[in-house]
Amino acid sequence: MKLSKLALDIAESPTLALNEEARLLRERGEAVIHLGIGEPKNKTPIAAILASAAKLTSGEVKYTPADGVPSLKKAVVRYTEENYNKAVAPENVLITNGAKHALFNIFYSILNPQDEVIVLAPYWVSYPEIIKMCYGKPVIVTPADGTFTPTFAEIERAVTSYTRAIIVNSPNNPSGVVYPPELIAQLVEFCERKKIYLVCDDIYHKLVFDQAKAEPAYTFSQKDIEDSQIIVVNGVAKVYGMTGFRVGWVIGPRELMRVMTNVTAQITSGVSPVSQAAAEGALNGLQTVVEAIRLQIENNRAVLLQEMKTFNGARLIRPSGTFYALPDLRAFNNSSVEISHFLLKKALVVTVPGKEFGMEGHIRLSISGTIKDVTEGIARIKWALDPTSPNEIYIGDRKMIRDWM
Ligand code: PMP
Repeated sequence: MKLSKLALDIAESPTLALNEEARLLRERGEAVIHLGIGEPKNKTPIAAILASAAKLTSGEVKYTPADGVPSLKKAVVRYTEENYNKAVAPENVLITNGAKHALFNIFYSILNPQDEVIVLAPYWVSYPEIIKMCYGKPVIVTPADGTFTPTFAEIERAVTSYTRAIIVNSPNNPSGVVYPPELIAQLVEFCERKKIYLVCDDIYHKLVFDQAKAEPAYTFSQKDIEDSQIIVVNGVAKVYGMTGFRVGWVIGPRELMRVMTNVTAQITSGVSPVSQAAAEGALNGLQTVVEAIRLQIENNRAVLLQEMKTFNGARLIRPSGTFYALPDLRAFNNSSVEISHFLLKKALVVTVPGKEFGMEGHIRLSISGTIKDVTEGIARIKWALDPTSPNEIYIGDRKMIRDWM
């Protein structure tokens, strides 16, 4: 079969095989715990349900302007003013089919073949693939000190004359780390001086714990939005737990939004008006729903931190945001794919191999599920890997004995 080089270059995700294996186990009635999926457990906020239902029952479900329904764009303008302290116009906003499409559209619109984009490890799996799909070259910067926060000097060293953008995701998927404001400030100053785009994937920006604050890049810029190198990506998927509606957005200079609107018009013709109505409902509705999600995850994180204390051999950098944690399990096995398969087979727990995020020897745990899943899931992982943990455990209603060490 003849297939394109571009499509064949897209890496197959190891997670697919794991998810399929988990699905088959579940179908057989096994008590699988999913610590792989990253989406909050909440029901859709009521304001979003009512707004989208009203749109649907109106029977007026037609094409919308490719850049988004004006009233949703207005809600995003207000959101940006309130949460970023940045005045933007509707022409600086583009509504997209989720943050993922926003990222694709940005790289499609700013990269020429062979242009480089700096990606900070650990990184969200899709960044390098999306960049490659736009004929760009991902340049990965991995912190040398074993933390999940690269230094500015490390990032600066990776910049070449081909560097077109740096992508920053803080709070970070998969590590949960929130980058220090000093790093963001340095990146803003550097990108503005060098005329490099700073793409800020802020999809988790309100899901932070303790005193952590994901300081927006705009805080450190004096520039008007039209001269700004900053491009912001956000959406309703994580903060409102509305992953299935597929609504995200981009904030940036008008000229870029104009080009990106043309791209959108040819590829998707914009987002479904039912979904856009839902997003508008969420943005204009009661914001206590966001705090409820944040609190539920903060509770889960407390359980995670408590359980990890007695996990001998595992090293965890405390997550300050998102609903992920990325423990280092190299004391047990250097291959994260092997660890994840082992954990599914022995403990019936789904995890994501760190290799996917550029952090071999680590696994990503999602704590977005129920507190019971988090507690039991981590207990099972300890039982499977840590010889100092009790060697008996109940999985479902079966008593299991560890007999492999
Ligand atoms: N960016 C990051 C860092 C993510 O983790 C995700 C979702 N996993 C996305 C973007 C995509 O979000 P959406 O569902 O809005 O496309």
